[in-house]
Amino acid sequence: MESYRSKIFVLTELRDGGFHPISFELLGKGREIAERLGGELCAIVMGNQVGKDACMELIYYGADKVFLYNSELFSGPNIINFKHNLVRLVEEEKPDIFLVGATHFGRSLAPRVAAALKTGLTADCIDLEVDEKGELIQIRPAFTGNILAHIKTKTKPVMTTVRYKVMNACPRNSKRRGAVIVKEAEEPRERNVKFVGKYGTRKLNIADAEVIVSGGRGLGSPDGFNLLKELADLLGGVVGSSRTPVDEGWISKEHQVGFSGNTVKPKLYIACGISGSPQHLAGMKDSETIIAINVDPSAPIFKVADYGIVGDLYEVIPLLIKEIKARKVRKC
Ligand SMILES: Cc1cc2nc3c(=O)[nH]c(=O)nc-3n(C[C@H](O)[C@H](O)[C@H](O)COP(=O)(O)OP(=O)(O)OC[C@H]3O[C@@H](n4cnc5c(N)ncnc54)[C@H](O)[C@@H]3O)c2cc1C
Repeated sequence: MESYRSKIFVLTELRDGGFHPISFELLGKGREIAERLGGELCAIVMGNQVGKDACMELIYYGADKVFLYNSELFSGPNIINFKHNLVRLVEEEKPDIFLVGATHFGRSLAPRVAAALKTGLTADCIDLEVDEKGELIQIRPAFTGNILAHIKTKTKPVMTTVRYKVMNACPRNSKRRGAVIVKEAEEPRERNVKFVGKYGTRKLNIADAEVIVSGGRGLGSPDGFNLLKELADLLGGVVGSSRTPVDEGWISKEHQVGFSGNTVKPKLYIACGISGSPQHLAGMKDSETIIAINVDPSAPIFKVADYGIVGDLYEVIPLLIKEIKARKVRKC
């Protein structure tokens, strides 16, 4: 039997019958840390009727062991059920490091677990490193994204939430072997919170979009988003925004890209009338191809853009739309 020097936990997240992609991103980083520390990487699955085959996927993506819970307690987002059972597992297994996704679910759950375990939590990390002493360095933006803070936690486990789309998954390796341990869930005794159901009509999933056409203050009014929507629809994409239009009430917060909004990594990001503040760049600079349209040739967005168009978006975008439509007709 292999003996490990440390134990790293990754909490996976289930979404629409499968694993949320952040689960694989966390396993990718967890694997890197485990290699560095000579550690064992353990994934935790909390769901209802999750098969062992599904858990094997987590092993192919880097886990050494999977703790699998199947219970009706986890069929809804009742956070107290998750918290109670995670705290029990941590007390039993005593991991050194515990990674959770900085999704709505993870952001709600991780602080509760950390508080119950009386350990520290570093939220919203964008990178993790191991120093020469074997201690985890948690890296996250601070002071509105102008500096990157490097944080160490003295208590164990070192708990951290990690932003979606900032880490890379390992390549899938179906030759990897590992164990799936079935665990019994326990119903918490505390009944301070009554779960009444799941509400909400969120449909936009900007973080997973492959094409994003984003607008900023340069749009001048909410109507400008109609033009961006036309371009986004033609490209099979969605509309994004800098914070200014959100603050102005031109578009809803779920469209916001940046430090206090969504982190995105699409194949194509078109920034229209966006200056390129550090807070905006923090959310989109890793996009595969960036096109910027701005009247000001000195706008900082051009420093990160692969293609820059200096011009009025109300002249440039209609030309782009016309050209794309013409090409689509020619293709038919
Ligand atoms: C704590 C904190 C968190 C923040 N979080 C975020 C965040 O998550 N996301 C975010 O985006 N910002 C965030 N901000 C705000 C950020 O600092 C900037 O204020 C914001 O990004 C600026 O938005 P903008 O580029 O749309 O506007 P501006 O900086 O005003 O830029 C507008 C641009 O449009 C150009 N323009 C004008 N007219 C046209 C035209 N007709 N055609 C083409 N170009 C034109 C101008 O040349 C200019 O470059 C945050 C700030 C703080 C303090």
